[in-house]
Amino acid sequence: MEMAWNVGGREGWLKRRGTSSIPEGEREREREREERGEAGREAVQSFSAVPVTWPGAPPSLCKMLALSVVALLVLSGASWCPLAEGAPRTITPSLLQRKPGILKATATSPVTRTVTTTVPHLALTSPSPSRTPRVGGTASPRPTWAPASLKTTAAAPTRSAKRMTLSTERPTDKTALKKPDRVKIVKKKVLKKKKKKTAKLSTQEKAAKQASECPPLGLESLRVRDSQLRASSMKRYGLGPHRGRLNIQSGIHDGDFYDGGWCAGHEDKNQWLEFDAKQLTRFTGVITQGLNSIWTYDWVTSYKIQFSNDTHQWQPCMNGSQEAIFQGNKDPETPVLGVLPVPVVARYLRINPQSWFENGTICLRMEVLGCVLPDPNNIYFWNNAPVTNDKLDFRHHNYKDMRKLMKEVNEACPNITRVYSIGKSYLGLKMYVMEISDNPGQHEVGEPEFRYVAGMHGNEALGRELLLNLMEYLCYEFRRGNPRVVRLVTETRIHLLPSMNPDGYETAYKLGSELSGWAMGRWTYEGIDLNHNFADLNTALWDAEDNEMVPHEFPNHYIPIPEPYTFPNATVAPETRAVISWMQRYPFMLSANLHGGELVVTYPFDMTRTYWKAQELTPTADDPVFRWLATVYATSNLAMVDDDRRLCHYDDFMREGNIINGANWHTVPGSMNDFSYLHTNCFEITIELSCDKFPHESELPQEWENNKESLLVYMEQTRRGIKGVVRDKDTEEGIADAIIAVDGINHDIRTAFDGDYWRLLNPGEYEVTATAEGYHPVTRSCRVSYEDHPTLCNFHLTKTPKQRLREILAKGGKPPKDLILRLRQLRMRKLEALRRRALQ
Ligand SMILES: [Zn+2]
Repeated sequence: MEMAWNVGGREGWLKRRGTSSIPEGEREREREREERGEAGREAVQSFSAVPVTWPGAPPSLCKMLALSVVALLVLSGASWCPLAEGAPRTITPSLLQRKPGILKATATSPVTRTVTTTVPHLALTSPSPSRTPRVGGTASPRPTWAPASLKTTAAAPTRSAKRMTLSTERPTDKTALKKPDRVKIVKKKVLKKKKKKTAKLSTQEKAAKQASECPPLGLESLRVRDSQLRASSMKRYGLGPHRGRLNIQSGIHDGDFYDGGWCAGHEDKNQWLEFDAKQLTRFTGVITQGLNSIWTYDWVTSYKIQFSNDTHQWQPCMNGSQEAIFQGNKDPETPVLGVLPVPVVARYLRINPQSWFENGTICLRMEVLGCVLPDPNNIYFWNNAPVTNDKLDFRHHNYKDMRKLMKEVNEACPNITRVYSIGKSYLGLKMYVMEISDNPGQHEVGEPEFRYVAGMHGNEALGRELLLNLMEYLCYEFRRGNPRVVRLVTETRIHLLPSMNPDGYETAYKLGSELSGWAMGRWTYEGIDLNHNFADLNTALWDAEDNEMVPHEFPNHYIPIPEPYTFPNATVAPETRAVISWMQRYPFMLSANLHGGELVVTYPFDMTRTYWKAQELTPTADDPVFRWLATVYATSNLAMVDDDRRLCHYDDFMREGNIINGANWHTVPGSMNDFSYLHTNCFEITIELSCDKFPHESELPQEWENNKESLLVYMEQTRRGIKGVVRDKDTEEGIADAIIAVDGINHDIRTAFDGDYWRLLNPGEYEVTATAEGYHPVTRSCRVSYEDHPTLCNFHLTKTPKQRLREILAKGGKPPKDLILRLRQLRMRKLEALRRRALQ
């Protein structure tokens, strides 16, 4: 999915390449991430210098530093902490990231920073974060990520009045703990910190692992219905409990009906957000996030949890003899996992905020982790039929696992598969493609070539898994003799690229499906958004069209790549270069690239024609075909056709049949779809596969079932339209690079090396002209039916006399008499015509 506030412009190709290959909104986010990462390191550094260098500092500053030290230690889980042993453990991606790995560039760490800026509508205390709307692309001042955890340490444990009959597993009383003495703490732990850190982290990882043994219950994936979420109060409907879902995105207007989280209507410690699991569940943890908004900053910094079986009696989540207090968030976006000290079996869970960002209010988004318990009295228990009958490898595959799986498929089906690499990512990971065809490694004359590309945005992980599932499926079903698959594999050359941005994926994968947030891993290692990184050919085409130069002086297809884009120092990712040369090597005729974060199919153009517009309907010359292609996918996708489904975030695509013109959603200059269409013969669309960019492993079988039919039926669209071979009438040899023009469609396509071509068309009657240099053009009428195969439309072209003469002379031969005669006739006719025109 794209960010909503990408406002791109068309103020000249070079300029854009230089300035906005990452559009402003994202560029800014990127900077923000980097800065946070850097600032995190700073904070850690200054922290270790504390005991030595601060004797003379003013008391308030000292106190603040001491407190932030406490805060940092709480975060890093040092052992002095009263909650540490068997306490609710809070795992943030930043902590997990400190393992050695490739994550250094994107680390977000706890930060104590001060930026003094002005806030229009927030009470201003210094130091304070400020927020100006981020729309429009101006770099807004960075916020201060205040030491949010101060309140947490201060919040006193409270005792619950009543004990209830909820079963708490393995209650441990080991941890009867005393109140910490703050001064002492600072001294002790600063010294100890280095030693403890590594050991402690592994405990936290263990805790995270333990919690992740139970899957997310589906607030993010929308398996949880709005009616399962309730709250003590809400600020307004757009901020109601139904919005309190992990990673939900807000609309772009202040006060939007679809806002980015739940916000309580009152600011006190009695507010709660409640989740009804509908059946007995062993809860193991919760994940929280702040409000997603481009207008305000709000997040909860600490909270308690309560459980109930009937919503009347509530039992607090205990940590030994004290009520557990969980660390909340430090910024709006980074998800933070709170692991329950011990799993608790209940039906209802409440999250009860205790402190929140000082300039904000009580707002959060959450996910709940838990294992549903078998309950024969509950109807859900009997609905446990497997969602799919296909025995595929339903899990997330990192680079190594992916490579292994592709190798296995290749070994299982050596006759119809071939694995090849199209290049390397910035960090040197290979970009593997699985080819599936009855003659792998060969282009057969007349056989269409198809490709699926996934993982262009590294954190949109579902497409990758679906393509891995698809290659397994095609292999097994082909072996089983499934007639549909046999026909598809025999008649089509299929190429599957599961990971176009392998570096970005590894970043997201390491954080995991729940903790990678909304953007981590989207970009390449260099910070490039691959879907904005292709050469912009639209501008040149539209300028030529405005000057009425198309198609005679400027082509309406095969538009050349502007020279600056090919310079070695151009901002072009190695991943993009690899894909472009792949596109040029194979005569692809149809493709789709798989994204995530929404449920909609988009078709080109992706870039608005009016350069200053962020949204504008911008159809191609082949709009009816593209609308058809998009519709085919959207109407066979089980998730999209579900009328009961709720919006993913704030856009309602259901009214339009779950398809939209890309530019009419939001402009994307330099997109892969536009490039495919304008530079090659390939028609390509974008498929946004699911509301959740990185669904939990447990969702994968369902997602396969949702997409299986549509993935197959979309590949079968290679059969729509006309195809044929353009040959030399005398030699019967195929003519490469001949132009196929369809009357009434201002977009031509060309023949491949063997003279074969494929032209996607909706059913109807068409006048088709084949032209090639040195040949007389031929026009014939071709009828496209509704049947399940393309119409054959072959052409035989005769060489022009001039061309024949040229060829004979080139061979050093003597031209035959009839040819000389014919050429003389032609010359005379031409002169006569000129003479007549002169007389008029
Ligand atoms: Zn995307």
